[in-house]
Amino acid sequence: MRLNGIRLPHHKNTENCETVDIKCPERVIISMSQHIGAPAEPTVKVGDEVKVGTKIGDADLRMTCPIHSSVSGRVDKLGEMLLPNGKVCRTVEIVSDGKMEPDEGLSPPVITDRASLAAAVRASGCCGMGGAGFPTHVKLDYDEEKVHIDTLIINAAECEPYITSDYRELMENHERVIGGMKLVREILGIERVVIGIEENKPKAIALFRDKLSGESGFEVMKLRSSYPQGAEKVIAYYATGRIVEEGRIISDYGMIVLNASTTGLIWDYSRTGMPFVSRRVTVDGDAVGKPCNLRAPIGTQISRLLEAAETDTENMKRLIAGGPMMGISLYDPGLPLLKTNNAFLAFKSEAKKEMQTNCIKCGRCIAACPLGLMPAEFERAYDRRDREALNRLKINLCMNCGSCSYVCPAKRPLAEKNQLAKGFAISR
Ligand code: SF4
Ligand code: SF4
Repeated sequence: MRLNGIRLPHHKNTENCETVDIKCPERVIISMSQHIGAPAEPTVKVGDEVKVGTKIGDADLRMTCPIHSSVSGRVDKLGEMLLPNGKVCRTVEIVSDGKMEPDEGLSPPVITDRASLAAAVRASGCCGMGGAGFPTHVKLDYDEEKVHIDTLIINAAECEPYITSDYRELMENHERVIGGMKLVREILGIERVVIGIEENKPKAIALFRDKLSGESGFEVMKLRSSYPQGAEKVIAYYATGRIVEEGRIISDYGMIVLNASTTGLIWDYSRTGMPFVSRRVTVDGDAVGKPCNLRAPIGTQISRLLEAAETDTENMKRLIAGGPMMGISLYDPGLPLLKTNNAFLAFKSEAKKEMQTNCIKCGRCIAACPLGLMPAEFERAYDRRDREALNRLKINLCMNCGSCSYVCPAKRPLAEKNQLAKGFAISR
């Protein structure tokens, strides 16, 4: 069986652009909210000296992981900022001394079993680097008495247009990704490891097939290029044929899914003890003079990245963090780079406001939904504020991939309505 999905233009303009390191910024603004879950609290105060990798934020909560300084220098300000999702979070601003000196206290973790692997991954500040941003240690924190993980799935689909940051990780750092795959497999005693790569990345497929040839238990899976192939439940289905039912999670079915760059980070941390302090990000779009992949310290202002990519900011009308399907519009290029940002797209035109017409009941939105949901029915139920119908139709399962809006000939804003409907369905 093939799950639904849509074909999108790929626009992988930066696929051959080797990663370039951004020069050390004079100041970084590090958000205490870097991922899904609970934010951290600053663990430093104004005036403290920090090095690269010094812990600056944490919280004693399961869905939080620590945050580290990405530069060496001095804490200048504890502030607040408005995140693009409308939430306010705390920030730690650090003035760099330009030396990028690593914290002397960093050392590789001792990893001997699942608990020590999960603890090390948490200590690294690792969260999903593919955009969704789930704290990675939580995926490794399961009850071994009740759960048997037999399959590790490495998500290298990168199905959104423009973004090539995971692809560059595969091409530039295959040994990190493979190291991470082997480490997690060995520690958790997993039988099968599958790396899923879309067919529009033939060089990466060939490279990983070559590097993993003769290794038993490893498999490179060529995925059809269709959106949203990289959604966790979708890639899990193609890797194992297992369908994750409502109310269940991936690990209930013996699977763990890790993003390819996240897997590389886990390997790096296990070898060096250097936590998550910088990342690769694609900068592209028609306002960008030199589309590229840049690596920058977390907390670098996006304006620095746009400048490095020779962006025509005077004529820039739209700035998106992430891809055009699931990305989020940014209100200010002065916002800082987060751990979950895999791309910034700058465009000279506003988002097209196409004329909406009435639903013609063509069913294309239903055919496009990878989860077999009924977006047209969601819209109708939301418009009449029918909470019971929304719950019956399973609005909670919608992952907001935008496929339904994309295919709708009547240009109904289905995905936007779904978001509102989700909030409405759980409100009192
Ligand atoms: S946005 Fe939701 S309803 Fe629409 S296609 Fe994606 S999962 Fe289905
Ligand atoms: S795709 Fe658009 S027009 Fe067709 S059924 Fe869905 S909402 Fe209606």
